[in-house]
Amino acid sequence: MSGDAAPDPLPVQLAGLVRVALADPLFISDLHLSAAGPATLRRFLRFCAEEASRHAELLILGDLFEYWIGDDALSDDEVARAVAAALRTLTDRGRRVHVMHGNRDLLLGAGFLRATGAQLLADPCVATIAGREVLLAHGDAWCTQDTDYMRFRATVRQEATQRQFLAGPRAARLAFMGAARQQSEAGKQEKSMAIMDVTPAAVDDALRVAGQTMLIHGHTHRPATHRFELDGRPAERRVLPDWDFDAQPVRGGAIGVKDGELVDLRLPA
Ligand code: MN
Repeated sequence: MSGDAAPDPLPVQLAGLVRVALADPLFISDLHLSAAGPATLRRFLRFCAEEASRHAELLILGDLFEYWIGDDALSDDEVARAVAAALRTLTDRGRRVHVMHGNRDLLLGAGFLRATGAQLLADPCVATIAGREVLLAHGDAWCTQDTDYMRFRATVRQEATQRQFLAGPRAARLAFMGAARQQSEAGKQEKSMAIMDVTPAAVDDALRVAGQTMLIHGHTHRPATHRFELDGRPAERRVLPDWDFDAQPVRGGAIGVKDGELVDLRLPA
């Protein structure tokens, strides 16, 4: 297939799930899969075949891929194809796979959903698990102190911007993604740790609007369980770890549910 074939015309503006009922989910995010991280890719493929296949639902809360230039990547990108095949195996076996856009892969579109059998998750949305409710989000929308990023985010989330981008030749899309990633890495050197984390007040507001006191998100790469009080009620914010099995020591993990409680799942190398 030629490198400049037009990708799906409607990439992202699909109706997402506002509420999703889950029986036995695993949550992951920020795998940042790419050809530059072969061990991380291998671990994800093994995770699908082993850990994820033992659960009813797999929820990917953003940044499954390091970048996504459009669903035409599925035609010849080895990483995209391997990941899609692993997810398809899960859905063929009756597991449900839900994918949320991250800031790196917000162009995952209808073609990816068709290829994998996955469903798109709205950001944010509410999961119900054994009678409990949990707000799910990627997390980048709450990094409100990073005004440069918030401006960039507002632009790239516009449908017109996305259509225009996807209509461009593949080489141009790849070049743009490369430049954007470089700029983001350079920005991280200058920005303070506080600026690159979520703003607690923004999280509080999101929980109030959703009527929730429990939350799982990714994006910040600062895995933790934060327990705090929200308007006099106990609240909990779980941050998912990013994955890097090409690093020493390896990083990665998931969140599951046991006896109605959220539990961390360590992933051995
Ligand atoms: Mn992210």
